[in-house]
Amino acid sequence: MSYKNFPMVPRVIFGRGSFQQLNEVLAPKRLNVKAPFIYLIDDVFKGNTWLISRINLSYEDRIIFISAKEEPKTEQVDTLVEDIILKSKERPSGIIGIGGGTLLDLAKAVSILITNNGNAEDYQGWDLVKNQAIYHVGIPTISGTGAEVSRTTVLTGPEKKLGINSDFTPFDQVILDSELTKDVPVDQWFYTGMDCYIHCIESLTGTYLNAFSESYGNMALELCKQIFLEDNLSNVESQEKLMMASWHGGMSIVYSQVGVAHAMSYGLSYLLGTKHGIGNCIVFDHLEEFYPEGVKVFKQMKAKHNIILPQGLCADLGDNEFNIMIKVALSLEPLWENALGKSWKNTITPKKLKSLYQKM
Ligand code: NAD
Ligand code: ZN
Repeated sequence: MSYKNFPMVPRVIFGRGSFQQLNEVLAPKRLNVKAPFIYLIDDVFKGNTWLISRINLSYEDRIIFISAKEEPKTEQVDTLVEDIILKSKERPSGIIGIGGGTLLDLAKAVSILITNNGNAEDYQGWDLVKNQAIYHVGIPTISGTGAEVSRTTVLTGPEKKLGINSDFTPFDQVILDSELTKDVPVDQWFYTGMDCYIHCIESLTGTYLNAFSESYGNMALELCKQIFLEDNLSNVESQEKLMMASWHGGMSIVYSQVGVAHAMSYGLSYLLGTKHGIGNCIVFDHLEEFYPEGVKVFKQMKAKHNIILPQGLCADLGDNEFNIMIKVALSLEPLWENALGKSWKNTITPKKLKSLYQKM
């Protein structure tokens, strides 16, 4: 038996208003005046002077605003890398990702592809990255995915939706400032927050569970219950707690695995472009048979916050389309094995998955 040796984020700042410290954190990391810092920022912050004015651009530093309407694509990473290399006099000093999971994943992928030849799709998989990435910093503006701690960056490529899982993927520095999350719309807050809740349920009920994952998973689950079911938290407390829940939920799956909701949600996302947070919610809502207690509590949370999930997503799909989703979902073998054990293939058949997708 050989145990996995995982890297973790080596530096983290936590605190309301800590985003102000970004400039002093970056200053010593500047390689020289020709080696810029490149900021990849969710375009929801375009024109937001409160946030943008806190960033000191010097020398050749650049901000690139990026839409998070769609999940990151391998081709998008390649285009960004080409643009950054062409327009920079020297290899950049660092990449700073500011946004949700979409921007954090793009920042990780870009920092890897700057030092590794070829295209992003060449590195989708496990431990295919050869060279260390350039310095990269993650600053979440919405909480739940755990992308700020994870060793993956999930990309949709021409062939598959799969992460670049590597020891070089995690951020060198993370800044957790809950103030950046204060204007997240309620629906999106719920969807991305539920990603964290579902990480906990899938990790804690999985066959891969161990004391490492369990301790982080329990902490994150307890925080989610406070945030989404209780009334006594202030907005600031709730935002800070969700930031830590996301972190711990991410730590929990680092040493275990996600499960049925994630496998099926990848199928929806690949075929229909359904985004991760809402896709997980749509799937999880129908998974009582796998996660009875988890789904019961999920429904309470949904009702408490008046969340109406889209229905009938798969109503008009043909057999070919079902087959595409089923193929994507079934290819995620470790997720099924974690959820149901080594003999998962006895219960999870294409027919079974079709009947589940038909409810969604
Ligand atoms: P997101 O980045 O897709 O953003 C969702 C929406 O919220 C966008 O419209 C965005 O503009 C908006 N938004 C973000 N911050 C805001 C703010 N402060 N105020 C107002 N609006 C704001 O959301 P997400 O759910 O964090 O990320 C989903 C992505 O994360 C998916 O691409 C998924 O594959 C990825 N993911 C990665 C990992 C990982 O470990 N790498 C884990 C889970 C999910
Ligand atoms: Zn997730």
